[in-house]
This record gives sequence, C-alpha cells and structure tokens, in this order.
Amino acid sequence: MSEEVKLAKEEHVKADSRQLRGTIADELALAADHFCDDNIKILKHHGTYQQDNRDARHEKNADGTPRGKSFMFMVRTRIPGGKVTAAQFLAELDLCDRVGNGTLRITTRQGFQLHGVIKSHLKETIRTINQIQLSTLAACGDVERNVMCCPAPYKNNRVRAQMQDMADRIAEHLKPRTTGYHEIWVTDENGEKINAAETFQPVEEPIYGATYLPRKFKTAIALPDDNCVDVYTNDLGFLAIVEDDNIVGYNVLVGGGMGVTPSAKKTFPALAQRMAFVLPDEVVAVAEAVVKVQRDFGNRSDRKIARLKYLIHDWGVGRFKAKVEEYYGAALAAPRPIDVTGVDDHVGWHEQGDGNWFLGINIENGRIKDEGPLQIKTGLRAVLSRYQMPTRLTPLQGVILCDIAPGDRAGIDQLLRQHGIRGADELTLLRRYAIACPAWPTCGLAVTEAERVLPGILDEMEAELARLGLLGERISVHMTGCPNGCARPYTPDIGLVGKAAGEKYTVFLGGNVEGTRLAYIYRDTVPREELLPVLAPVLALFKAERHPGESFGDFCHRQGKEVLTASADAISNAASAG
Ligand code: SF4
Repeated sequence: MSEEVKLAKEEHVKADSRQLRGTIADELALAADHFCDDNIKILKHHGTYQQDNRDARHEKNADGTPRGKSFMFMVRTRIPGGKVTAAQFLAELDLCDRVGNGTLRITTRQGFQLHGVIKSHLKETIRTINQIQLSTLAACGDVERNVMCCPAPYKNNRVRAQMQDMADRIAEHLKPRTTGYHEIWVTDENGEKINAAETFQPVEEPIYGATYLPRKFKTAIALPDDNCVDVYTNDLGFLAIVEDDNIVGYNVLVGGGMGVTPSAKKTFPALAQRMAFVLPDEVVAVAEAVVKVQRDFGNRSDRKIARLKYLIHDWGVGRFKAKVEEYYGAALAAPRPIDVTGVDDHVGWHEQGDGNWFLGINIENGRIKDEGPLQIKTGLRAVLSRYQMPTRLTPLQGVILCDIAPGDRAGIDQLLRQHGIRGADELTLLRRYAIACPAWPTCGLAVTEAERVLPGILDEMEAELARLGLLGERISVHMTGCPNGCARPYTPDIGLVGKAAGEKYTVFLGGNVEGTRLAYIYRDTVPREELLPVLAPVLALFKAERHPGESFGDFCHRQGKEVLTASADAISNAASAG
C-alpha cells in the first residue's frame, strides 16, 4: 500500500498496541465501568465487545437526570468446529449465571457468547474460560475468527473426523501468537509492569505482522451434501471431495462475505468463488497464503471495503489465485467440478455408526435460558451433569449431544421433555432452519429487533403455512437487526434485514437453504407488522404455481423479482377489493 494512503484509525491503534495489549491491563485496574475507544478496538481481538443496554438508555435517576449508559460486555468463546466437552458446557452455563445475564448464546459460527458481563467481572470471566481449556482470543477482531466445520459426529467412516481435525489444524496455525492475551487475562497479576513500554518484548507474529489483518476473516469446511456451515458466505471455504469414504482433497473457495453498508454503494454481499483444488496436506499452507495475500493487499484505509471479497472483486479470481500461488510457492490445481447439493441441521436422533447415537437439539436463536415452562438451561444442565457426554455446537445455533449409548436414549428424552425442550418431530422445518442475530438490546449497531421478534414472526408464518397446507416445507429464514449480516441473511430462502428505526425491514427472497445463491431484494422498508402480509401472497403463489418438488427459494428465484412482485400485488389487490 502506498505511503500516501491514509490508513484507517484502527490500523494506527493496532500498530501502537504492542501486540494487542494497549492499556487494557491499566484500565482493568481502574474503577471506571468502561474502556477508552482505543482499548475497545483492541479488546475485540481478545473476544469481547463493549456494549451497553440500549433498552435502558433513556432511563432516569430518581432526581430526573439521565442515568447514562449502562455498560456491559459480550464475551465470545472461539470453538473450532464447535466441539465442547460436558464440563466446558457446564462451566459456561455457570458463568452465565454468575457473571452474565443468566443466558448463554450459541452463535451462528459455533461459538458461545455471554452477555451482560460488567467490567469488574471481565477478567474473571475470560480467565475462567481459559481454565476450562477454551479461549476467547481471536473470537472477534481483525484476525482469523472461529473456524467452522460440520459438527455431525458420524463415525461410520473417517470423513467427519478428518474435517474436524482440519478445522483444528487451521485454527491453531492461524491464531495470533501474541502473549499479551495470556498476560492480561490468565497470568498477569500486575498489569502495569506488563504493559510498560520499556519492558515490552514482542514475539514474532509470523502470519499477521504488526497490524494483523485489514478486517475480520472467516473460514469454514463443508461437505457437498451437507453445507450446514454456509461455506459460501466465508472469506475462505474448503469443500471436501470424498472418494471411498475418505477426503482426497478440497475445493478452495475464496471471497464470501455478508456485510453491507446501505449508505455505501461500493459495499455488497458476495458468495465465495471456486479458486483451486488442494490435497489435504496442502490445506494449512494454502490457507496461510490466502490470509497473507489479504494481509498485504486488503484495503487498510476504508474498513467498509476491507474484507477479502472486495480485493477479489477488484482483482478477479485469476489474479488473486496467481498471487496466492506466489505466496504458497507452487501452482495450484483447478477446482474439481463438485458443488454443494444439500444441507442438514442434524436435529433429532441419529445413529453415529459406532453403536452409539447422537441427538441434535434445536435451540431458538441459540439462546440457552429458562423462561416459563421452557427450561432449556436447567434441562441441558441436568442432561450434561448426569450423562457427561461430549457436545458440538451447530451453525444453526443448536447443540448436538454425542456418544449416547442406546440404553440412555429414553432417559435423555424424558429429561428434555420434562424441561419443555422439544424434539425434532415437534418442530416445523421452518423453525428448525430459522436463525437470528442478537440485535437489540445488546448490539450497538442494531437498527431493529431480530432475536426477540423472530419467534413471533415464525408463529405467524407457521399459521399461514398451515392454512396453505405447506407446513411440511423446508423454508429457511435468517433475520438480522442491521445489514451487517451476522446471521447470513442474504443466502437463505427468506432474509429479513433490519433497515430503519421503527422496526422496518428489507425482505430478501430467492436464496436457498443450501446456501449456494444470493437472494434479491423483494421489498424494502417493510414495517414489522407488514412482514406476513408481504410474504403471504408469495407463499400462495408458491403453492399454486410451483413445479413438482420445487423449493420455495427455487420458486422465487425462477419467478424473479419483477414477475413475483406483479403476481403478489395482483393477489393483494384482489384481496383488498374483495
Ligand atoms: Fe448487530 Fe447487525 Fe450483527 Fe445483528 S447483524 S449482531 S444487529 S451487527
């Protein structure tokens, strides 16, 4: 990048941070309930976001004066492939009760999030997560984020284990080497000494250098017949090529990303593009080369266009591949003609292939909580305490209980039912394939609700689908509280994206549940209460005019925006006239 380019503020903050230390330790020792702006930026790399309770922003003190922001922190645990032991799961549940808001959230990238942690509890929280052999390092920030991988624990062949092993290897290789994280949260008893500039000893950051990446970087591993990780929405994807129950290599996909800034026309969502085929032994080195090219050529002056997708948009895949080959040191083979064909949420009981079973549990929006008759937190705690099975977190924000002996199935089912946790046969496919980001009240970028309103929207949609006789259809709905796209809203059958204050949404149609196609904007700035009236005519058209076996997303894609809009308007107008 030329000297004249004005770097984004974050670049200076990272460069001056002494390998992500900043003055975090100093501020931790102060009584203030929040950090300064520079440390907030650095803290993201440590896996925590400073937030405030937006519901409480307008509250007043007894004397009528504004109470001010009530600061709290989101703490995200990075868990490659979503693999969590029973002990780790139970410890995170304990943490949410002890220092969080009493809920634990499974993220759309197979991690955990604690919400509502106050500053004076932050060190204890992150330290505890490390003590249970998990980490928050690089769960957020301008680095390789959590590496996703299909979590299904099938053991009838080596394929899932090979993928999980690859996720671990990539995650380990691409994690930051800075010792600042451990000094601040795990070993440091004297922040001042460690952060003193005169005693600072840098370690080598062989992949990231002094300023890490221009922006976040996401990686996922998928199977052609099971794209549960939504591989095309990642900066870097590996699609496993399987022959004779063995992974012979991977198609390398580059440049996916969901985030959009509506006011900036230069921003757009993108699916990853196929770049190359690599053997399993080449994966880690090629991943490193891709990351390094993005490190050196990604945009560091404008964070809106700093993701890898913009570099690939500017260069084209051919030029990008040539640069990756230069960094890798060898030519890369052309991608194999294999693509995604299916997806599975892994909910319900499944034989693992080794005599045991696994149980996938849908958790609405990933929020593990106790509320009324639905006692998810207590129920999971009871099952994990009694059976101590390993678990996996899913990209649809659910959990898989693994390695269950056939004789334990009935007892587990009974415990879950006692706590109101529903099985696969009690949930519609609509609900099983729906996800939402947290949005209000915790996310500072949210312009609308998402997680808190999606259940009600699904209620309305279920009633309409039942009326039309379509309740058995698998229709995926992803909802976010702003266009940043954390719940991947631009690829499913229906995307609902917060657009404007006053609960107004953009409705996307024409994606698909397999995540291989970008949706188009069907309607913009739709008020919350108008969402079902906008969708109902389209569902009716789907019922009347679909081809045999055609999915809702494929139907909307085949119709296209103009035809669909005209046909749906005709139905709405006829209904109003009648
Ligand atoms: Fe926040 Fe927007 Fe991401 Fe939702 S999509 S979590 S509102 S940044």
